[in-house]
Amino acid sequence: MNREELMAGKKRIVVKIGSSTLTHAETGDMDLVKMERLVRVLTDISNCGKDIVLVSSGAIAVGRKTMKITERPKEKSVKQACAAIGQTRLMMVYQRLFAEYNKIPAQVLITKLTMINDINRRNARATFSELLSMGVIPIVNENDTVVTDEIEFGDNDTLSAIVAALIHADLLVLLSDIDGLYDDDPHVNPDAKFIEEIDYITDDLESMAKGPGSDVGSGGMATKIAAARIANDAGADMVICNGCDMKNLRHVLEGRNVGTLFRAHKNENFHLIDYLTKEH
Ligand code: GLU
Repeated sequence: MNREELMAGKKRIVVKIGSSTLTHAETGDMDLVKMERLVRVLTDISNCGKDIVLVSSGAIAVGRKTMKITERPKEKSVKQACAAIGQTRLMMVYQRLFAEYNKIPAQVLITKLTMINDINRRNARATFSELLSMGVIPIVNENDTVVTDEIEFGDNDTLSAIVAALIHADLLVLLSDIDGLYDDDPHVNPDAKFIEEIDYITDDLESMAKGPGSDVGSGGMATKIAAARIANDAGADMVICNGCDMKNLRHVLEGRNVGTLFRAHKNENFHLIDYLTKEH
């Protein structure tokens, strides 16, 4: 199936945006123009009758900026305090931007512990389903304020794939600060080749996904490949594309050749709970 046909059939879409895409690199302040464009595109997709879930990072980055903490905090309590401060600010901005377009957002904070618990997981799934049937756009983040080092997702690439699996989404789009997957680190190797499509994630591919995470977010390419494995196994296609221009998100959904597409290959042996309880 070509990309246009593939994307035309998508009904339930999870979009993940990272901290480095949401904030200005120079100052760490929120990039309001980008957020406004993201909200407009998401509202438009929702208005087409599709279910949309946004997984948004940025709580710690925004909290850090608010408290004028210039270095990435090492201490857990400082990070958790920043998350508490930043999360409400972030939601306040989303709330205002969505209100411009008469769209209702909702906040869903998730922890790994609650996802492991059968009752919590079922409740979360039912809540998502209810929100989506109301035409609301859930905005998800990890509940960074209460997680422990031992039991956390740590990065929202993984979290967004878990959410996609939980709600049986058929597409996950990761808005990144890079165009997609290359066969080598393009920051180091100018000859690195861009990969448009991946049919199956091999171990070789995983080792290819090098390159450190950025200063504000937690996910490098390795966490994106791990996310693709979860999403693809759960039956969702995944696209990594550059979030610097929100046109890319629209183009992905129109089926244009933007970003790297990881094709779904539903694995009947994939059970979310097994993944969540396995050591990684
Ligand atoms: N949950 C973190 C935050 O909102 C971000 C995790 C990540 O960068 O992937 O600040």
